[in-house]
Amino acid sequence: MALTQALTIGIDIGGTKVAAGVVDPEGNILDRLRRDTPTKDPKETEDAIAETVRDLESRHDVIAVGIGAAGFVDGTRSSVLFAPHLAWRHEPLRDAVERRLGLPVVVENDANAAAWSEWRFGGGQGESHLVCVTLGTGIGGAILNDGALQRGKFGIAGEFGHMQVVPGGHRCECGNRGCWEQYASGNALTREARELALSGSPVAHNLLRAAGGDPRKINGPMVTELAKDGDPVAVELLGLGIGLANLAAALDPGTFVIGGGVSDAGELLLAPAREAFKRTLTGRGFRPEARIVRAVLGPEAGLVGAADLAREEATWLRRVRVKTTAVTAKTAAARSRSTRLERAARKSAGRRTGMHAASPDPDLHHADLNGESDE
Ligand SMILES: [Zn+2]
Repeated sequence: MALTQALTIGIDIGGTKVAAGVVDPEGNILDRLRRDTPTKDPKETEDAIAETVRDLESRHDVIAVGIGAAGFVDGTRSSVLFAPHLAWRHEPLRDAVERRLGLPVVVENDANAAAWSEWRFGGGQGESHLVCVTLGTGIGGAILNDGALQRGKFGIAGEFGHMQVVPGGHRCECGNRGCWEQYASGNALTREARELALSGSPVAHNLLRAAGGDPRKINGPMVTELAKDGDPVAVELLGLGIGLANLAAALDPGTFVIGGGVSDAGELLLAPAREAFKRTLTGRGFRPEARIVRAVLGPEAGLVGAADLAREEATWLRRVRVKTTAVTAKTAAARSRSTRLERAARKSAGRRTGMHAASPDPDLHHADLNGESDE
């Protein structure tokens, strides 16, 4: 089987759930699993990942695993430097999971993974300069230039939510004030709507009624639903364009893809965002303007993207193993990783006799030599 036809597993690790799926090269999810995330102990989280992969692996032939994690992932995509909702602190997750499974593993920031799948299969297809903005409880983001994720020197690029848009504004959990995610995320929507309702303002009547009269029960999806029904206050709460104009000033993309739960508001969110973007854009009227479109892949974009990045990594590892003659430090490290994976796979297969063996790629040495194309 050519690597490009092979299946991979994508895993999305959030603060409460591990979502995993077997993904084909066209980005289709063939099988799914969900389970709770043990958050207190890094080893328990690894156990949960390994068990989930083995379960899916017992039904499908897979060649690699991609893990999308909400947190800072280092530039080599091997360690989670920090994850706000998990116990990972400088956690060498890739090597730990590879040792257990004997499969190549890629660890990627969840917003990067989601952006990758939007570029490959979704709203960003064909765009050479893409910026994705994910509006969830906070704001995540990613930059893709010429089909490559721009991770920055330390792997942490794209944390757009913590650009300061209102000096001295609302306190953010990152420690600073006035961060963009305090004004345009799901949490921001909820806070603004609650404040409005608590102020007793008559314009918040619909919000308050939707929450059964209790301002504390107002939440982001409630605001989004009211906005869809045309409630003018709910529409006004959805603010996005100024931050996008700042991003355009810095990054000059051709397309913004807007995803995450808040993007369910669709054109109600995007139309005013486009207007605010136009009003705020540097050099407005004298420059081409980026398109602002909605993400199309939904909440499983991260899972699909992680799986697809894993397929890329497996392909690259094989090439390094078989073809590379010029040995740089990077390819030497990849070769030794490839050897370690084979050993781990043999051990893993030995331990699980009677079950489907976790071979990373049985024809690892021979496929390219036989003239089989990965491209
Ligand atoms: Zn912040």
